[in-house]
Amino acid sequence: MLPFQDLKKTNARFMDACIGAAGRVLRSGRYINGPEVEHFEKEMAAKFGVRDCVGVSTGLDALRLILLAYKELGRLHDGDEVIVPANTFIATFLAVTHCGLKAVAADIDETTFCLDFDRLPLSGNTRAVIPVHLYGRVYWDVESVKRLRDRGILIIEDCAQAIGAEAPESGINGTRQAGSLGDAAAISFYPAKNIGAFGDAGAVLTNDDELASRVRMLANYGAPEKYVHEFCGFNCRLDELQAALLSEKLPYLSEISEARRQNAALYDSLITNPDVIKPQYPSHSLSHVWHQYVIRHPRRDELREFLRANGIATEIHYPVPCHKQPCYSNHPLLKTPGDLLTSEKLAGEILSLPIADVSEEEIRIIASIINQFYA
Ligand SMILES: *Cc1c(COP(=O)(O)O)cnc(C)c1O
Repeated sequence: MLPFQDLKKTNARFMDACIGAAGRVLRSGRYINGPEVEHFEKEMAAKFGVRDCVGVSTGLDALRLILLAYKELGRLHDGDEVIVPANTFIATFLAVTHCGLKAVAADIDETTFCLDFDRLPLSGNTRAVIPVHLYGRVYWDVESVKRLRDRGILIIEDCAQAIGAEAPESGINGTRQAGSLGDAAAISFYPAKNIGAFGDAGAVLTNDDELASRVRMLANYGAPEKYVHEFCGFNCRLDELQAALLSEKLPYLSEISEARRQNAALYDSLITNPDVIKPQYPSHSLSHVWHQYVIRHPRRDELREFLRANGIATEIHYPVPCHKQPCYSNHPLLKTPGDLLTSEKLAGEILSLPIADVSEEEIRIIASIINQFYA
C-alpha cells in the first residue's frame, strides 16, 4: 500500500542535521524561552518580510492568541462576528468560538476552494475575516480586502497550509508572501504540513508590534517579565527543541514547494479521465505550494475505493464542512446566514491524492489507475 504521506520519508533528508540540532538543545540545559526560539523567530520574520514572529505551540493556538490579543487590545469584543470559510480544518472555527466570538460560515468558490470574496456574509457586526489559503493556494483579492479594511474589518490569514506561497498581488503591507498579507497570520508546523515539526508547533506573524507583544505575553502566562502577570495568559509556547529542528528545515522551504509543484504538474499532465476535475490554479504558479492536490469526481467514494483496492491511499479534506460537524449543532456561536451549497457539494466530490515525497513513477501509477476508472 502506498501511504498517503510517509513522514519518515519526508524527514529522511533532514535526519542528520536534526539529530545534531536536537543533541545541541538536549545538552544545553535550556528548553524554554531560549536562543533557539529567538533565532527561529528572527529567521521566520525575515523570510516572510514581517516585523514580528512569535513562535507558539500549535496552529490552533496561533489563531486563538491572535483573536484573544485583539480582544485585549479592544479591537474585538465578545459576540463579534468573524467570517470563516465552511470548508477548512475545524481549527479555524474552533479558534473563533473558543474566544467567545461568533463564527460566521461562508461559502467557498468552486474553482479556488477558498472564501468567495464576492459572497461574504457581511453584517453590521462583522469585525474580522479569516481567509484560509486552502490546500496551499493563496487566495487574495486586493480590491475586496481594501473594501473590508475601509470598514475596519481585520484580515487574519489562516496560513497553516500555505507556508511559502506567494500571492499574485501585494497584501496590505506591500509584500506578497502568504502570511504577510493581512493584519496577522497563523502558521502551523503540524508534522504533515509543508514544513513540519517533530511534534506540535506554530507561529504568529504580524507587522503590528503591539499585537505581537500581546500575543507573546498571552502565550507565556500573560507575563511581560517573570512573575509579573498583566493578563490572564496561557502556556502556548514554542519550545527550544522544536524551534531548533524547524530551523534546520526552514531553509529548504522553496525546494519543498518546488518539488510539490512538479508533482502537481505531473498529475495535471497525466490524469486524462474526462470525469475528473483537476485543480484549476492561477497562472502565477508561485501562488500555490500544493499542500494538497485535490481532484473532484462525481463518484468520489467509488474512485477512492478503486484506488485503495489498487494499493493507493487517499484522503478527503474535508468530508464534512465545519458547520455540519456534531460539535456545532445548535452551537450559540455558530452562524450560517446564507446557503453553503458549494461547500456542501464539494465535500462529496473532493479527493486528495498523495503529493508529498511521491516519485514520478508513483505518480504515473496513480494517474493510470485513475484513468482506468470507468474508462
Ligand atoms: C493544520 C491546520 C490548522 C491547525 O494547526 P495545528 O498546528 O494542527 O493546530 C489550522 N487551520 C488549517 C487550515 C490547518 O490545515
